[in-house]
Amino acid sequence: MERKTRSKFLKVRCSCKNEQIIFGKASSKVKCLVCGKILAEPSGGKIKVKSRILEVL
Ligand SMILES: [Zn+2]
Repeated sequence: MERKTRSKFLKVRCSCKNEQIIFGKASSKVKCLVCGKILAEPSGGKIKVKSRILEVL
């Protein structure tokens, strides 16, 4: 069985303690809604998460 990390939602926590749900296949940079820090950025069709992942939804 294949397990690919696509089309998933991730719950991440920013260093400012804001928790945010992001799409695992975003095509643009995802910023924290509170402090504006980049939480994740696109990387070859996937997403590169630069913050702490709390949960994969
Ligand atoms: Zn933040």
